[in-house]
Amino acid sequence: METNTKVAIVTGGGSGLGKETALKLAENGASITIVDVSEKSGKETVELIKAKGGESIFVKADVSKAEEVKTYVEKTVAEFGRIDMFFNNAGISGPGLKLADHTIEQFDQIIDINLKGAIYGMKYVIPEMLKTGGGSIVNTASTAGVVGVSNVSPYAATKHGIVGLTKTAAIEYGKENIQVNAIAPGTTETPMVKEFGEQNPETMKATVDSIPAGRLGKPEEVANLVSFLLGGQAPYITGVVVPIDGGVTAQ
Ligand code: NAD
Repeated sequence: METNTKVAIVTGGGSGLGKETALKLAENGASITIVDVSEKSGKETVELIKAKGGESIFVKADVSKAEEVKTYVEKTVAEFGRIDMFFNNAGISGPGLKLADHTIEQFDQIIDINLKGAIYGMKYVIPEMLKTGGGSIVNTASTAGVVGVSNVSPYAATKHGIVGLTKTAAIEYGKENIQVNAIAPGTTETPMVKEFGEQNPETMKATVDSIPAGRLGKPEEVANLVSFLLGGQAPYITGVVVPIDGGVTAQ
C-alpha cells in the first residue's frame, strides 16, 4: 500500500502533531481531510497543503459530537471516494490538578473529546475501510496512556482508554486488513507545549531534565512515525502502542 494514491483523515489537523502529520502525508501524495474544531487553523493547514500542490478539504467538527464525526466521514467519502488512513488525534490536555480537585465538568470535557471522540471516529471510519478492503488507523495516546502521570488523571484515563480501544479494534479487524496502532508521544514541542514552557520555565526545565534523550520531542518526528504506520510499509505491526518519548517510559 503506497501513500501516493491514498485518502487520509487527520483530526486535530489544524495544529501541532495533526498539522505536521497532515503535511507529511500530503507530501507523500495522499489526499487529506483536515478535521478541527478551529476553522481558522484547520483551513490554514489545507492552504499549506494546496500551496504545495496537494489535495485537501477542511471539515469543521467537534469530535466529541457523534453527528459531526459522522459528517466528516461522509464528506471525505463524498469528496475522495474512500478512506485508507485515519490519524485519530484530536485531543486536549486539561488543567494540572490532583484527581479530586478536578470538577465534574473538567472530567466530562476531557473524556468527551479525548476518548469518546476517538471512539466515534473509529465507529464511523471502520465501515468505510471495510468497504474498500482495509486501511490503517493510528490513535494518539500519550506516555500518560502507558504509565501514570501526576496531576492529569482524566487525561491519563482517556489515554489508557485509547490503548484499550486500539488493541481491541486491532484484534477484531485484523483479518479484514485493518491495521490499528497507537502512538504514545512524550512531551513534544507543539504550540501548546511551547506556550506552557514560556509560562512555566521551571516546570519545563524539570521535564526536560527527566527525559533520557535530554530534550523534548519534535512534531516532525511524530509525523514520520505516523506516516510510517499509516503508509502500509509494515502491515504486520498491529495492536501496539509505540512510544516516541526519548526514553521516558523505559525508565
Ligand atoms: P494542539 O493543541 O497543538 O493540537 C490539537 C488540535 O486539536 C487543535 O488544532 C485543536 O483545535 C484540535 N481540537 C481540540 N479539541 C477538538 C475537538 N473537540 N474537536 C476537533 N478538534 C479539536 O495539540 P497537540 O500537542 O498537537 O496534540 C495532539 C494530540 O497529541 C492530542 O491528542 C494530545 O493529547 C496528544 N499528545 C500531545 C503531546 C505533546 O506533548 N504535544 C504528548 C502526548 C500526546
